[in-house]
Amino acid sequence: MIVMKFGGSSVSNAEKIRQVIEIVRGRLPRKPLVIVSALRGVTDDLFKLGEQAVRGSSPPVEPVRKRHLEAIRELGLDPVLVEPLLGELEALLKGISLVKELSPRSLDYIVSFGERLSSRVIAAAFVKAGVAAEQHDAFDIGLLTTEEHGAAQPLPEADGEIKRIVSKMAKVPIVTGYIGKTKGGSITTLGRNGSDYSATIFGAAIDADEIEIWSDVDGIMTADPRLAPTAKPIDALTFAEASELAYYGGKVLHPATITPAMRKGITVRCLITFKPDNNC
Ligand code: ASP
Ligand code: MG
Repeated sequence: MIVMKFGGSSVSNAEKIRQVIEIVRGRLPRKPLVIVSALRGVTDDLFKLGEQAVRGSSPPVEPVRKRHLEAIRELGLDPVLVEPLLGELEALLKGISLVKELSPRSLDYIVSFGERLSSRVIAAAFVKAGVAAEQHDAFDIGLLTTEEHGAAQPLPEADGEIKRIVSKMAKVPIVTGYIGKTKGGSITTLGRNGSDYSATIFGAAIDADEIEIWSDVDGIMTADPRLAPTAKPIDALTFAEASELAYYGGKVLHPATITPAMRKGITVRCLITFKPDNNC
């Protein structure tokens, strides 16, 4: 099996989702488990909705609804895929606006909707494109975490749980990045950009042959290309170099990403969605 993770910019609209499906289709013989982020910008929007709600206004979820309904329409899917979750999000924000209290736990609950929504749309698009795929919330397939909301860590038993559950799956699992759940049942997040971390957590748990982190940028660069126009892609990094880079603020990988892969010695490759034949 391999793990393929697609970030927010790789799944920002219907066209990009179609591209992702074709990339995964090309890897079907390697039995991929797919991890997806929220549609680009949606996590930021959800954080803002939480802030607005705690100030007392019950903010409209329209922008978030519109983003998903647009993708659904363009992909020819049924809005019923997302309506129940959008209703739940609306009720949650209303509740927060009434109690005017936003705990780290409620904030994680709010921002979890990004991946829960995107994965449902993306999985349905796979099925429509003829790929036998199935959506899963990571917490329903074993990703148990500590209670540190906003920076949760997988519990040691998550490995075994994930492996046990995933090994029984016949369809391509399309799994939410970024989120998990405590043993007590509250939704947690692994920290911003946490879908990378989800990819290596799942990869290590299932003893994947390889973990692929797909994004819209040219892999890991020598410098931030927005700041240093002469930045060049790096061919290969050791685990230690990659984690150091992430730790010191490189924007490509979540700081803890490399840890699970290193534990099992699994190669992590960064690939580019718009140049699927190139890697870095
Ligand atoms: N959606 C989350 C974020 O924006 C996680 C991720 O994209 O990796 O931080
Ligand atoms: Mg990212």
